[in-house]
Amino acid sequence: MTQASIPIGAFENSFARLPDGFFQRLNPTPVSQPVLLAFNDDLAKELGLQTATLSQQDLAAIFAGNVVPSGAEPLAAVYAGHQFGNFAPQLGDGRAILIGEVRDRAGRLRDLQLKGSGPTLYSRRGDGRAALGPVLREYLISEAMHAMGIPTTRALAAVLTGEQVLREGYRPGAVMTRVAASHIRVGSFQYFAARDDWAGIRTLADYVIKRHYPEALYAESPALALLQGVIERQAKLIARWMMVGFIHGVMNTDNMTLSGETIDFGPCAFMDAYDPKTVFSSIDQFGRYAYGRQPGIAQWNLARLAEALVPLIDPDEAKAVELASAAISDFAPIYHEAWLAGMRAKLGLLTEDEDDRALIGDFLDGLERTSTDFTLAFRRLADTLDGNKAGAFPALVKHDALLTDWLAHYQARCARDQLAPSDRAAAMRQVNPIYIPRNHQVEAALAAAVEVGDLGPFNRLHAILAAPYEEVAGREAYAEPAGPSEQVFQTFCGT
Ligand code: AMP
Ligand code: MG
Repeated sequence: MTQASIPIGAFENSFARLPDGFFQRLNPTPVSQPVLLAFNDDLAKELGLQTATLSQQDLAAIFAGNVVPSGAEPLAAVYAGHQFGNFAPQLGDGRAILIGEVRDRAGRLRDLQLKGSGPTLYSRRGDGRAALGPVLREYLISEAMHAMGIPTTRALAAVLTGEQVLREGYRPGAVMTRVAASHIRVGSFQYFAARDDWAGIRTLADYVIKRHYPEALYAESPALALLQGVIERQAKLIARWMMVGFIHGVMNTDNMTLSGETIDFGPCAFMDAYDPKTVFSSIDQFGRYAYGRQPGIAQWNLARLAEALVPLIDPDEAKAVELASAAISDFAPIYHEAWLAGMRAKLGLLTEDEDDRALIGDFLDGLERTSTDFTLAFRRLADTLDGNKAGAFPALVKHDALLTDWLAHYQARCARDQLAPSDRAAAMRQVNPIYIPRNHQVEAALAAAVEVGDLGPFNRLHAILAAPYEEVAGREAYAEPAGPSEQVFQTFCGT
């Protein structure tokens, strides 16, 4: 029983204006008893939504999919993708529905998408639904990424459906509302390329250029400029992930956006002890998407985008391939520059010194050898520079001899920068989070919500992660890695 429409904003539906082969038009499947669990008022304001005067019931009805807001033209988009290296020629929004786009206060077009909103043409054998745990997980982690200043899709709402979904057992069902610059993925281009549908690729490229890379329109080859733009944004994005120990977990080509936002938070997790081989996802048996492999995988995914764009880059195929290959090769230097700048900032280094790369390498080697917590290492280093907690970093690394030597080198390097130690420490605290979504805290928050309906731990964790850089007394438990009995070794997508 779909209720009457409610106005919440001026929908533009530009994606819905694309040709028929891009999507299935359909409304979300209503749920029996929607209850609003979380709503992001700040984001609603940023989007200029008229939700402030709506009742909890109306909000729940809208963000469960029971009521389609006035002016929206819902659809499920089609795409393809390489999943763990294997090409699936047809995927798509199997449990998501794009409600439409609204223009935010800054004039940018933003997608509103419901996830867990019922079956579509692209559901394959899935039920089109989402379980509460993964919905709250995406809510928490995407908002934490945003609070750290990392480009990401956002969480607008989480609604309990009143229905059960069958996963490893029955679980409470939920619908998540996600906000994105757009939901166009590398796999969106692959879908048309796999069908030799060059008109489709051209239409999609024109759309993406207009929406995300308007400057590319004036380039000699707009398609090449588009590819270069995506490569640059993705290289910088992955560098940001690496700075905070974020492990996406499912870097399939259908989970990589053209906009440069992080998307599809499945079994993602944050690394605790520094080790490039770290993997949490239960489905990543061979470590394809391990922490240290993310830059290489991103480049591989972008090469799949390049292949799809080749026919648009130049009428001369050999020349087009050469240009696309050069663009892909540029990923590495762009990434490394972003990585190095990020690491210098994390270590509080203002100037550039040719030995910095080695200094950073020795530091990371030391963290790996001593299984030191990646996040705390930088904060304790700042505390040590400050002077009043000079023993903080040596204590964290258990007075490891090599790292003690390293500390002396580092302090000598800092001395060449002409910056007061307290100012350097303050600058470091602005780029090194003290609170990240630690796996054991996330799991505990989800378990309380799913098992006993207690949203207290979720709300507390969400509030703490909203201010990740400022250390606050009383929040020590959220800064520390898991104790031996709390450790989480695996995460699940739960789809
Ligand atoms: P993901 O691993 O979540 O990125 O999803 C990969 C593909 O599987 C996408 O096309 C999803 O729409 C689809 N999918 C995942 N879970 C479900 C589900 N419960 N029902 C239908 N389709 C799903
Ligand atoms: Mg996905």
